[in-house]
Amino acid sequence: MKGASFSEAVRDEAAATLPEQRCCRLALLSGVVRTAGSFHIHGRGHTHLEVELAAGPAARRLVELVRGLGGTCSIRTHRERRFGSGQRVDLEIGTDAETRALLRAAGVITASGSPQGQPPRRVIARRCCRAAYVRGAFLAGGSVAAPRRPVHLEVRTHDIGAAMDLARIVATDGIELRVRERERYATVYSKRLETVADLLARIGANDAVLSLAEGEVISQLRGEANRQANAETANLRRQVVAARRQLDAIARLRASGLLEALASPLQEAAELRSAHPELTLAELAEIALPAIARPTLAGRLRRVEEEAERLAPAPK
Ligand SMILES: [Zn+2]
Repeated sequence: MKGASFSEAVRDEAAATLPEQRCCRLALLSGVVRTAGSFHIHGRGHTHLEVELAAGPAARRLVELVRGLGGTCSIRTHRERRFGSGQRVDLEIGTDAETRALLRAAGVITASGSPQGQPPRRVIARRCCRAAYVRGAFLAGGSVAAPRRPVHLEVRTHDIGAAMDLARIVATDGIELRVRERERYATVYSKRLETVADLLARIGANDAVLSLAEGEVISQLRGEANRQANAETANLRRQVVAARRQLDAIARLRASGLLEALASPLQEAAELRSAHPELTLAELAEIALPAIARPTLAGRLRRVEEEAERLAPAPK
């Protein structure tokens, strides 16, 4: 994976599945529209909404999202290429009553039907929904430099307001992004590996995190990086690898209907890990209810993996 194709691969990974809960689906739509949507006004105060995106699976997934929420939506291929390379498409969002109700629920238009700037608090009040909003923003305008290139992730938004909103929303969960205003658009970006990895994990792009972490380890081993940085990236990589293994095991148990058969402490550990793929073990232990010691949680997740190996072994 390199160059533009890495960004594409990351977007595809982030679009591989839609969030399960309706609250998150609305938040995802909100993130997409706030980042890359534009309203066109017709007569009688009616507006019509279009979202400009890179062509590909992510665009198709967003059509599925809107339709799944009860709205109407179609894809139109762009003739001109506005920025950079790659084919662009427009999602044309319907103007029927049901779609408008959906856009109101997503906080994209106001009760009176005019475009709403900032996403309303109810849309992004929950952590799950904030992650979905960020995922939407990334699907709509995100790119990330390939592994072993200088670290750079950015989301390009139509205007500075949308960029500030995005930075504020991720900051709520401890991810610090910078905002830059350009002449015709704005970007929200980071050049720090840990920040980028954190953000990618939060939007479900775990393979991308792993590729970046591996790329970093390789570059650092080859370069003359200091030992502490090596230790940090190696540690990051170990955490990502462990989380990936746990998530795989949980997915296999779930797919074979065996997750519910586990003892409840194991089930709880599995649920906690699934709900927060991006957190380190220490962070997971901290948010567990009731509180749990880190080594205990580590032990339970290890047993979940063992059970998966026993009951639902990975295909060879
Ligand atoms: Zn949610």
